[in-house]
Amino acid sequence: MTSPQSQVLLPPDSKAGVRPAIALRGIEKTFGSFTAVKNLNLDISSGEFFSLLGPSGSGKTTVLRMIAGFEHPTAGTIELDGEDVTKKAPFERAVNTVFQDYALFPHLSVAQNVEYGLKLRKIPRAERQRMVAESLEMIQLPHVAKRLPSQLSGGQRQRVALARALILKPQVLLLDEPLGALDKQLREQMQIELKQIQREVGITFVFVTHDQEEALSLSDRVAVFNEGNIDQVGTPADLYQRPTTRFVASFLGHTNLIEGQLAQDLIGSAGTFSLRPEHLRVHQHGTALGEHHTKLRATVREVVYTGSCTRFVAATPSGTDLIFQELNGASDRQTTRGAEIELEFDRRNAFPI
Ligand code: ATP
Repeated sequence: MTSPQSQVLLPPDSKAGVRPAIALRGIEKTFGSFTAVKNLNLDISSGEFFSLLGPSGSGKTTVLRMIAGFEHPTAGTIELDGEDVTKKAPFERAVNTVFQDYALFPHLSVAQNVEYGLKLRKIPRAERQRMVAESLEMIQLPHVAKRLPSQLSGGQRQRVALARALILKPQVLLLDEPLGALDKQLREQMQIELKQIQREVGITFVFVTHDQEEALSLSDRVAVFNEGNIDQVGTPADLYQRPTTRFVASFLGHTNLIEGQLAQDLIGSAGTFSLRPEHLRVHQHGTALGEHHTKLRATVREVVYTGSCTRFVAATPSGTDLIFQELNGASDRQTTRGAEIELEFDRRNAFPI
């Protein structure tokens, strides 16, 4: 597995001389004899919605906590807008954090929670009230200003936590699995709202999640964490369509790994290739195969209905199972369990990893 750790992972649109909002250089973090983060180099641009994605224990929260200043790196430097903040305390950094449990003050009303940071900064009362009203307007909750956090729904609490963090106008907002406690429907609704708010306020968001769909749908760019390393950084489309490691290919959605003799036979090279299920389809008997297409025999082993599409698992004579999917309602033809079929794909959609 190749890891691009030694290079600085720059945004695709980064221009020489443009200062990143966040620059991590040679960051390492050890806890006793355990290395949680290994020689990490990363630049995040101003105004980016940037996600740290990875399975539990891969090091993403530790990186977020180091940017916030709650943890200090064992080696390396952290710059915020060009300033070295590696040794600075959390309150000395122009960042704010939204935690998974929201950490709202239970005895303060919604308005008082949002106002809290402004009071600490000694902003005059009239100005504070104007800013709180504006902020509650932004999260569409002016009607709950007087309620306590316990009198709110999970989604409302999440929005209040966001307003409280944004009212201080940090250069960077750090979000640690902020939608983790919400049910699926509310989570999807909040994802849209979060994206809208980020676009409106235009500040840099660094978002920790282990949910690949969430990272793909929200982010401008995503870093995929694997055991303390970043395997790949890229736009959601880059990562999904052109994964560079086996780990990224299988962590982001379903994929087929074609390797060894099967790769040699179908693609003409014995490497390992990632082929997404949507790029495989049933070959219609008697029709010509396209110039770049290749086909193979298979037997349908499983049929899984998922609503908008159906996913199939097909056994091939080489012993490799392949997953493919069909949009429901797109054709009258039905592929059933046990069917003997031929599968085809365009070789250009098989990416070497
Ligand atoms: P999750 O999604 O479960 O929060 P994560 O990717 O955010 O996972 P981290 O919380 O960054 O992972 O943890 C990375 C590794 O470092 C884990 O193995 C964790 O047990 C270890 N770790 C984190 N904090 C400490 C600590 N204070 N002391 C010892 N080990 C720690």
